Amino acid sequence: MEPLVLVLGLAAAAGDLIGGAIVAAPRRISDRTLGLLMALGAGNLLGVSIIELIPESLAGVGETAPLFILGGYLLIHFFEHVFAPHLHFGEETHGETVVDTHVTSTAIVGLGLHAFMDGVAIGSAFIASPALGVIVFAAIMLHKLPEGFTIASVMKAAGTGRSWALTASAILAVATFIGVIAASGLGTLAPYALAIATGSVLYVGATDLMAEANTAEGILNPLMVFLGIAMFFVVLAVVRVAGIDV
Ligand SMILES: [Zn+2]
Ligand SMILES: [Zn+2]
Repeated sequence: MEPLVLVLGLAAAAGDLIGGAIVAAPRRISDRTLGLLMALGAGNLLGVSIIELIPESLAGVGETAPLFILGGYLLIHFFEHVFAPHLHFGEETHGETVVDTHVTSTAIVGLGLHAFMDGVAIGSAFIASPALGVIVFAAIMLHKLPEGFTIASVMKAAGTGRSWALTASAILAVATFIGVIAASGLGTLAPYALAIATGSVLYVGATDLMAEANTAEGILNPLMVFLGIAMFFVVLAVVRVAGIDV
């Protein structure tokens, strides 16, 4: 396994931990910063999945690729919103809904699977080409902090202590890293994992984060989605100018 993909996996995992630590800390991140990160993340993930990952999946898997992409999309939808009955990105403010331990445990499993697929996306993209791995990592990284924040804030709303909030975000961090490692060892199955992860990444960007960007008052966050797309193209251009094939 290449050292670089391990570094990317560790950095993505650290995002979850930092997000969790922010919730646990007395002085919290502002809602504006969190909303901004989610809107930028939505644009970045939308760009990387449509411009890079869907074509890469079609090239790697062939004509059945759309089935795997749809499967990955529905996988996250099921685990985040059917299996985990109350889960949304951002700060959890519906304390009374979350007090149920069933809600907190299903939220950990739902977001845990999501985090695992974030890792699979980075790892399997890296196998397709290290440059693509870096681009996917950059797009995913933007929502890792809000992701750790989300799970820690669910735990906090349920009335658990700081250490549980941190533990929950640590579980997401570990799941992310395991996803990177698992994908890196897939060999010839890697293109299929990439196709499934493409659907997952599309869901996170175009459904979870996009919805959050659009619940904010005013047009700033919806506008930031375009900046997120622009950021994706900048990263892509930098990688191409550096002469690395994506
Ligand atoms: Zn809620
Ligand atoms: Zn994620």
